[in-house]
Amino acid sequence: MRFPHFLQSLKKKSQKKWTSMNRIKDKLFTLHRFTKQEPILMEIVRSLQTKSNFAKIDFDPKLQQNRLISLKNFKKDSIICHFSYAEIMPEPNRYTVQTGEGKHIILSPLYLEYVNHSCEPNCFFDTTNFQFVCLRDIARGEEFTFFYPSTEWDMEEAFECQCQTKSCLGEIKGAKYLTNTQVAKYRFSDFIGAKLKKAKKHVFEL
Ligand SMILES: [Zn+2]
Repeated sequence: MRFPHFLQSLKKKSQKKWTSMNRIKDKLFTLHRFTKQEPILMEIVRSLQTKSNFAKIDFDPKLQQNRLISLKNFKKDSIICHFSYAEIMPEPNRYTVQTGEGKHIILSPLYLEYVNHSCEPNCFFDTTNFQFVCLRDIARGEEFTFFYPSTEWDMEEAFECQCQTKSCLGEIKGAKYLTNTQVAKYRFSDFIGAKLKKAKKHVFEL
Protein backbone atom coordinates (compact mmCIF):
# COMPACT_ATOMS: atom_id res chain seq x y z
CA MET A 1 0.00 0.00 0.00
CA ARG A 2 1.53 3.30 -1.06
CA PHE A 3 -0.16 5.45 1.51
CA PRO A 4 1.48 4.18 4.74
CA HIS A 5 4.79 4.03 2.91
CA PHE A 6 4.48 7.73 2.15
CA LEU A 7 3.77 8.40 5.82
CA GLN A 8 6.74 6.33 6.94
CA SER A 9 9.02 8.41 4.75
CA LEU A 10 7.50 11.58 6.20
CA LYS A 11 8.26 10.27 9.66
CA LYS A 12 11.90 9.56 8.76
CA LYS A 13 12.32 13.02 7.29
CA SER A 14 10.79 14.63 10.32
CA GLN A 15 13.19 12.87 12.67
CA LYS A 16 16.01 14.62 10.85
CA LYS A 17 14.27 17.95 10.63
CA TRP A 18 12.77 18.82 13.96
CA THR A 19 11.83 22.33 12.79
CA SER A 20 9.48 21.03 10.12
CA MET A 21 7.68 18.69 12.49
CA ASN A 22 4.78 20.94 13.33
CA ARG A 23 4.12 21.62 9.67
CA ILE A 24 4.08 17.89 8.98
CA LYS A 25 1.83 17.30 11.97
CA ASP A 26 -0.70 19.83 10.65
CA LYS A 27 -0.64 18.17 7.25
CA LEU A 28 -1.20 14.78 8.84
CA PHE A 29 -4.18 16.05 10.76
CA THR A 30 -5.67 17.44 7.57
CA LEU A 31 -5.01 14.14 5.81
CA HIS A 32 -6.54 12.25 8.69
CA ARG A 33 -9.75 14.27 8.37
CA PHE A 34 -10.01 13.60 4.65
CA THR A 35 -8.94 9.99 4.54
CA LYS A 36 -10.36 8.65 7.81
CA GLN A 37 -7.14 6.62 8.10
CA GLU A 38 -7.22 7.45 11.76
CA PRO A 39 -5.31 4.53 13.35
CA ILE A 40 -2.32 4.85 11.03
CA LEU A 41 -2.19 8.62 11.07
CA MET A 42 -2.77 9.07 14.77
CA GLU A 43 -0.02 6.54 15.51
CA ILE A 44 2.42 8.48 13.35
CA VAL A 45 1.39 11.84 14.77
CA ARG A 46 1.91 10.36 18.21
CA SER A 47 5.37 9.09 17.39
CA LEU A 48 6.28 12.47 15.93
CA GLN A 49 5.22 14.12 19.13
CA THR A 50 6.87 11.72 21.53
CA LYS A 51 10.12 13.64 21.67
CA SER A 52 10.30 15.50 24.93
CA ASN A 53 13.08 16.67 27.19
CA PHE A 54 11.11 15.93 30.36
CA ALA A 55 9.10 12.78 29.68
CA LYS A 56 9.12 9.45 27.90
CA ILE A 57 6.40 6.96 27.08
CA ASP A 58 6.89 3.43 28.29
CA PHE A 59 4.79 0.30 28.55
CA ASP A 60 3.56 -0.92 31.92
CA PRO A 61 3.59 -4.72 31.61
CA LYS A 62 1.57 -5.17 34.80
CA LEU A 63 -1.38 -3.02 33.76
CA GLN A 64 -0.78 -3.62 30.02
CA GLN A 65 -0.93 0.04 29.12
CA ASN A 66 1.36 2.89 28.11
CA ARG A 67 2.36 5.46 30.68
CA LEU A 68 4.29 8.74 30.78
CA ILE A 69 7.44 8.74 32.90
CA SER A 70 9.24 11.82 34.19
CA LEU A 71 12.85 12.31 33.06
CA LYS A 72 13.41 15.11 35.58
CA ASN A 73 12.83 16.06 39.21
CA PHE A 74 10.03 18.57 39.71
CA LYS A 75 9.08 20.63 42.75
CA LYS A 76 5.52 20.83 44.03
CA ASP A 77 3.45 23.51 42.22
CA SER A 78 5.95 23.84 39.38
CA ILE A 79 4.77 23.90 35.77
CA ILE A 80 5.82 20.73 33.95
CA CYS A 81 4.77 22.10 30.57
CA HIS A 82 2.20 24.19 28.79
CA PHE A 83 -0.30 22.42 26.58
CA SER A 84 -2.82 23.30 23.91
CA TYR A 85 -5.17 21.28 21.76
CA ALA A 86 -4.84 19.37 18.51
CA GLU A 87 -8.63 19.24 18.10
CA ILE A 88 -11.77 20.14 20.03
CA MET A 89 -14.47 17.45 20.10
CA PRO A 90 -18.14 17.95 21.07
CA GLU A 91 -18.24 14.62 22.94
CA PRO A 92 -15.69 13.04 25.32
CA ASN A 93 -13.68 9.95 24.51
CA ARG A 94 -10.98 8.09 26.41
CA TYR A 95 -8.24 10.39 25.08
CA THR A 96 -9.87 13.79 25.57
CA VAL A 97 -9.70 16.33 28.40
CA GLN A 98 -12.77 18.44 29.13
CA THR A 99 -12.29 22.21 29.07
CA GLY A 100 -15.94 23.35 28.99
CA GLU A 101 -19.54 22.43 28.21
CA GLY A 102 -19.38 20.35 25.00
CA LYS A 103 -15.63 21.01 24.70
CA HIS A 104 -13.28 18.05 24.88
CA ILE A 105 -9.74 18.57 23.65
CA ILE A 106 -7.23 16.21 22.15
CA LEU A 107 -4.09 17.31 23.96
CA SER A 108 -1.11 18.79 22.21
CA PRO A 109 1.59 17.62 22.70
CA LEU A 110 -0.19 14.33 22.13
CA TYR A 111 2.08 12.32 24.42
CA LEU A 112 0.24 13.94 27.34
CA GLU A 113 -2.62 11.59 26.64
CA TYR A 114 -0.44 8.86 28.16
CA VAL A 115 -0.82 10.48 31.58
CA ASN A 116 -2.92 7.84 33.34
CA HIS A 117 -5.43 8.19 36.13
CA SER A 118 -4.58 7.74 39.81
CA CYS A 119 -6.71 8.26 42.91
CA GLU A 120 -3.54 9.73 44.49
CA PRO A 121 -2.38 11.88 41.56
CA ASN A 122 0.90 13.80 41.35
CA CYS A 123 -0.19 16.14 38.52
CA PHE A 124 -3.04 18.37 37.45
CA PHE A 125 -4.24 19.73 34.09
CA ASP A 126 -5.02 23.41 34.67
CA THR A 127 -7.43 23.93 31.78
CA THR A 128 -7.82 27.67 32.52
CA ASN A 129 -4.13 28.50 32.05
CA PHE A 130 -3.31 25.46 29.90
CA GLN A 131 -0.56 24.37 32.25
CA PHE A 132 0.32 20.83 33.32
CA VAL A 133 1.42 21.25 36.95
CA CYS A 134 2.83 19.25 39.90
CA LEU A 135 0.59 18.61 42.88
CA ARG A 136 3.64 17.40 44.84
CA ASP A 137 7.36 16.82 44.30
CA ILE A 138 7.96 14.36 41.45
CA ALA A 139 11.18 12.38 41.15
CA ARG A 140 12.92 11.36 37.95
CA GLY A 141 11.55 7.96 36.90
CA GLU A 142 8.12 8.45 38.47
CA GLU A 143 4.97 8.07 36.41
CA PHE A 144 2.93 11.24 35.84
CA THR A 145 -0.67 10.67 36.92
CA PHE A 146 -3.77 12.81 37.26
CA PHE A 147 -7.22 12.36 38.74
CA TYR A 148 -9.56 11.98 35.74
CA PRO A 149 -12.59 13.54 37.48
CA SER A 150 -10.48 16.68 38.08
CA THR A 151 -11.31 17.61 34.47
CA GLU A 152 -14.10 15.18 33.50
CA TRP A 153 -17.70 15.72 34.57
CA ASP A 154 -19.33 12.62 33.11
CA MET A 155 -16.96 10.21 31.41
CA GLU A 156 -17.86 8.36 28.24
CA GLU A 157 -16.45 5.11 29.64
CA ALA A 158 -16.46 4.34 33.35
CA PHE A 159 -13.65 2.03 34.45
CA GLU A 160 -12.57 0.01 37.47
CA CYS A 161 -9.48 1.78 38.81
CA GLN A 162 -6.26 -0.26 39.09
CA CYS A 163 -4.13 2.47 40.70
CA GLN A 164 -3.62 0.35 43.84
CA THR A 165 -3.26 3.37 46.10
CA LYS A 166 -4.55 3.35 49.67
CA SER A 167 -7.34 5.77 48.83
CA CYS A 168 -8.43 4.13 45.55
CA LEU A 169 -12.05 5.05 44.81
CA GLY A 170 -12.80 1.94 42.74
CA GLU A 171 -15.06 2.79 39.82
CA ILE A 172 -14.19 6.11 38.12
CA LYS A 173 -17.03 7.75 36.20
CA GLY A 174 -16.45 11.51 36.46
CA ALA A 175 -16.81 14.35 38.96
CA LYS A 176 -20.60 14.22 38.75
CA TYR A 177 -20.60 10.91 40.65
CA LEU A 178 -18.20 11.80 43.49
CA THR A 179 -19.44 12.00 47.08
CA ASN A 180 -18.97 15.23 49.01
CA THR A 181 -16.20 13.62 51.08
CA GLN A 182 -14.36 12.60 47.92
CA VAL A 183 -14.79 16.06 46.37
CA ALA A 184 -13.20 17.69 49.41
CA LYS A 185 -9.95 15.73 48.88
CA TYR A 186 -9.13 16.82 45.34
CA ARG A 187 -8.23 19.81 43.19
CA PHE A 188 -10.53 20.38 40.20
CA SER A 189 -10.37 22.49 37.05
CA ASP A 190 -12.23 25.81 37.28
CA PHE A 191 -14.90 24.43 34.97
CA ILE A 192 -15.49 21.27 37.05
CA GLY A 193 -15.16 23.28 40.29
CA ALA A 194 -18.00 25.58 39.19
CA LYS A 195 -20.20 22.61 38.26
CA LEU A 196 -19.48 20.93 41.61
CA LYS A 197 -20.22 24.14 43.45
CA LYS A 198 -23.63 24.21 41.83
CA ALA A 199 -24.33 20.51 42.37
CA LYS A 200 -22.80 20.00 45.83
CA LYS A 201 -23.07 23.50 47.23
CA HIS A 202 -22.69 22.74 50.92
CA VAL A 203 -19.23 21.19 50.43
CA PHE A 204 -17.89 24.60 49.54
CA GLU A 205 -19.71 26.41 52.31
CA LEU A 206 -17.99 24.57 55.16
ZN1 LIG B 1 -7.68 4.28 42.10
